[in-house]
Amino acid sequence: MAFDPKKVLGKMTAEEKARILSGADFWHTEAFPELDVPRIMMSDGPHGLRKSVMEETDTDNDIPPIEAVCFPAACATSASFDKELMAKLGRTIARECLAEDVSIILGPAINIKRSPLCGRNFEYISEDPFLAGEMAAAYIEACQAEGVGVSLKHFAANNQEHERMYESNEIDEQTLREIYLRAFEIAVRKAKPWTIMASYNKINGTYTTESRKLLTDILRDEWGFDGMVMSDWAAVSDRIAGLKAGMNLEMPSSGGVNDILILNALKTGEITEEELDSCVLPILEIVAKCVNTLETKGLDNVFDRKKDHRKAVKMAEKCITLLKNDGMLPLKKSDKVLFIGGFFEKPRFQGGGSSHIYTKGALSAKDIYKDYGNAAYSEGFPADRDESDPIKFRDALEMAESADKIVVFAGLPDSFESEGFDRDDMKLPKCQNKLIKKLIALGKPVAVVLHNGAPLELPWAIGTGKGTDTSGYGRTLGTDGKCGAIVEAYLTGEGQAEALMNVLYGKKNPEGRLAESFPVKLEDNPSYLNFPGIDHKVNYAEGVFVGYRYYDTKKMDVMFPFGYGLSYTAFEYSPVKAAHHSFKLDDGIDIRFTVTNTGNVKGTDTPQIYISDKTRTAIRPVHELKAFEKLELQPGESREVMIHLGKEAFEHYSAIDNAWIASAGFYSIELGSSSRDIKSSTYVELKDGVRKLPFISRDTQIGDLLDCHETSDYIKERLSDFLYGGQEDAGDDAPSYDENNDMGESFVKYLPLRSLRSFVHMTNEELDGIVDDLIRITGQDK
Ligand code: BGC
Repeated sequence: MAFDPKKVLGKMTAEEKARILSGADFWHTEAFPELDVPRIMMSDGPHGLRKSVMEETDTDNDIPPIEAVCFPAACATSASFDKELMAKLGRTIARECLAEDVSIILGPAINIKRSPLCGRNFEYISEDPFLAGEMAAAYIEACQAEGVGVSLKHFAANNQEHERMYESNEIDEQTLREIYLRAFEIAVRKAKPWTIMASYNKINGTYTTESRKLLTDILRDEWGFDGMVMSDWAAVSDRIAGLKAGMNLEMPSSGGVNDILILNALKTGEITEEELDSCVLPILEIVAKCVNTLETKGLDNVFDRKKDHRKAVKMAEKCITLLKNDGMLPLKKSDKVLFIGGFFEKPRFQGGGSSHIYTKGALSAKDIYKDYGNAAYSEGFPADRDESDPIKFRDALEMAESADKIVVFAGLPDSFESEGFDRDDMKLPKCQNKLIKKLIALGKPVAVVLHNGAPLELPWAIGTGKGTDTSGYGRTLGTDGKCGAIVEAYLTGEGQAEALMNVLYGKKNPEGRLAESFPVKLEDNPSYLNFPGIDHKVNYAEGVFVGYRYYDTKKMDVMFPFGYGLSYTAFEYSPVKAAHHSFKLDDGIDIRFTVTNTGNVKGTDTPQIYISDKTRTAIRPVHELKAFEKLELQPGESREVMIHLGKEAFEHYSAIDNAWIASAGFYSIELGSSSRDIKSSTYVELKDGVRKLPFISRDTQIGDLLDCHETSDYIKERLSDFLYGGQEDAGDDAPSYDENNDMGESFVKYLPLRSLRSFVHMTNEELDGIVDDLIRITGQDK
């Protein structure tokens, strides 16, 4: 049995307590053998195990981590919209950790993709917090069920790399809660991560590692987090402020300098013994939890790289997303195909930085393409730089002349996107665009396969109108002078090449859906004017209008919308039906619809449910994702889907009330195959939601009183003469309230009560009588 954390805490000296508050080295907690407290190890990931083998004494920084298996990165797994896949990944990583004596995996990372330029977007899940939270929760639950903890990161609003350890993100409360904290809230409430990693950045001027509001008030007191908070690596600025805020473990080791600060603060009374203890206890509790696993785990935990490689291939297949197809895909065995592009022989299947997995298991498409059909390969352009080589260009174009179909393996070189810096633009290397355009000009079917961690501008993707509409969202992806097909491979891990070839040749029907919008151009992105900020501040001025919340509300054209992806088969949805027309918040509401595979091959579809708030009581996006399903259907097969929408689906964050609230009134429940392709919708009425009461004074507007359920009858009766005519005293020009007369209505509704003195010669006593009545009716006298 592991040690008893409370007992151990009781025995610890102040020095020991100070010491446990930072790591022993880069990857371990401190050990206290005399107290039976061993050290535990944590490792980067989370789409593979990046276990370091470096010892404190190693001076060579280039010692690679252990050889591991690289699974698809979050940019790709998110496109699967598949919680089972996330669970499988979490479970697999946990077992690898157990085999390697690693107790905590540093991930998943769920920061919101505010700008397509963020260098770490490939590590993050989505622009949508619901999707990010749900997918992360599935990973966490499965991983921790095996006895390995996660560190959910980076808490919070770490949305860019530019000045990531210094900048302050200026975010209003509604936006913070609905967008940047929401994914964390969902994951914490649902899956109870053992640890959370506080991010590098500041929010509204305070480092997250020093924010009591974030680390204690919200995380622990509101969401019920009972684990340990650790800092991102070297994120600690003021250790004492952090300690008081609830930041338990500083990582990596502070080298002892902060132990001295802590002991001094204890002496001077800046921190109390209780504060110190409450910072230490969660660390001991997590260490004890991990030790329990280490003591009870069987000896049969082996890191079976071959087996896990097969899993990596299967996972990759579920992530690849078909963005355009005029029918040229799937390739036939008999097609004479020319593959072009350096990524065909040097695949880019993961991103750079702390999540980089050291693997020898990756094959290239060039290694295996001969098994698939009648194909040839010409490099055309390199995978690792933007360089046009006229000879390679010419060779590719010449070989293309004799091919039936051309498939270009394009993408971003490693040096274009990584942890540590943001991209400058959304463009592919020039050499690639140039060759792709030339190939399209040959008039042959051209498919482009993309290897990238974030959206790109694709100047050769979308036609001007003629051609086949395959977009599924009412946009013509013409084939006139444009490519015939686009396959988004993302960074799908070491199984990428095999998965891709299976998708290209139709052995696997693509099922990915975009977890982020692809704007037509960078300037369309809502954060564009405020990215990456100025004077070390980033103004999140777009508020809650992030990603599709912005593009859809503004009805803007996008290249590819959120939730979008094609299949080699087709699906039809029956109209979505709600179980009732009205419902109560605590009951939520059930909805149902049927999905049918109307094509000729087996396929997997992802119907999505968006909710559109029609109550007009808060500034909100036109709709938001609130549920999604995944269904595999045989040709001709139909299946009914039932979904329960709980209260969270209807709530928004009210900064005035400091709470999540749902307004009473109407909501439209939309069923779509993407955020832009809503197939049907149905209205429901929330009966017992919050009704906004106007603040009552002499200045209250008459329209607000007429709109308010509680006051409208009173005000109609009390002001009936004025509202509905008969105002002899007021003269002919006096406005009157006639529900059929828009002008009169608009005029009256903006009149403050006090204006009745001028229009109907009301006395101050009469006016105050009305105000008093209204205060009583609305309960504002309490
Ligand atoms: C990254 C984290 C990572 C940590 C340890 C930091 O620079 O932001 O995501 O877990 O390093 O490598």
